[in-house]
Amino acid sequence: MPTDSAAPVLTVIAPVYDEEAVLPMFAARLRPVLDGIDVPYEVLVVDDGSRDSTPVLLQRMLREWPQLRVIRLRANAGHQAAISAGLQGARGDWTVTIDADLQDPPEAITELYSAAVQQQVDVVYAVRTDRSSDSRFKRRTAAGFYRLMRSLSDVDAAPDAGDFRLMSRATVDAINSLPEHNRVLRLAVPALGFPSATVGYRRDPRAAGSSKYPLSKMIRLTLDSVTGFSHTPLRLATWFSLGGFVVAVGVMVYVLVGKLTGNTVSGWASTVVTVAGFSALQLLCLGILGEYVGRTYSAMQQRPAYYVAYDSHDPSPADRGAGRS
Ligand code: UDP
Ligand code: MG
Repeated sequence: MPTDSAAPVLTVIAPVYDEEAVLPMFAARLRPVLDGIDVPYEVLVVDDGSRDSTPVLLQRMLREWPQLRVIRLRANAGHQAAISAGLQGARGDWTVTIDADLQDPPEAITELYSAAVQQQVDVVYAVRTDRSSDSRFKRRTAAGFYRLMRSLSDVDAAPDAGDFRLMSRATVDAINSLPEHNRVLRLAVPALGFPSATVGYRRDPRAAGSSKYPLSKMIRLTLDSVTGFSHTPLRLATWFSLGGFVVAVGVMVYVLVGKLTGNTVSGWASTVVTVAGFSALQLLCLGILGEYVGRTYSAMQQRPAYYVAYDSHDPSPADRGAGRS
């Protein structure tokens, strides 16, 4: 429930999960930055089902920070879902999403905001120019994730842009209108292809507490990314079938040579050629099925195919809507 009556220009969304150790520090650093930007703002903290004293701390903060709004999720839904919940409630013309552990410096919000206003873009990505504070494991897995997604999908996501970014109202509305589940925002936002800019920042170490992203959640994020943005795995069977045909032809040549040189075992040739040939045929059929499943999956996701920026029949900026095809 927002307590600030002026419509906010800037919304800052921070998902928190068991962040009692870092939350007071986060608020103490964020607040002067936002007070200094000199536009009405709201801070939307999404409590992702914390089990520690985070909810108590948030209640206390609500009393002394009128621009703060807290949304609590009933159960831990995960980082991406928590941000999505925040996006549904964001009222600002511009919305920033930021981690609460101070790895994303709140001071950079000023730069993100002025870049968006000056360059007239819809999205400003905060790109990590220095990740030396992250563990080697984190850096390696992150680099692998972006490489995998670049090779499997058509989405041109900046390799070091996480979920620290600023989005225009139109971008937030577009993301909110995506009906799909388990969307991965760091791919869904660039996939819109809206005009964007980047601002570099140095990623700091986590200020306190421990990471809430265990390996299981990282694997889940990768699976959601691959299945949500790529049909390549479904096509694997098609490629295997090509390999199968090559093997079958090779075996046939080998058998023919054997036959001509009189070096044969009776019944062997027909069995091997049949097995190799039919395996390839089965894989081909699987591959074709995969293509159709992929298309059905896309249709089921119901992603709007385009967004109208201007309509001479209705030049009012409100309700431009999204199109499906
Ligand atoms: N987070 C969340 N729900 C989760 C996991 C994480 O809301 O299930 C929040 C967490 O409190 C933090 C942000 O997402 O504000 C990023 O998480 P974390 O810093 O633990 O991830 P890492 O930086 O280690 O990848
Ligand atoms: Mg972190």
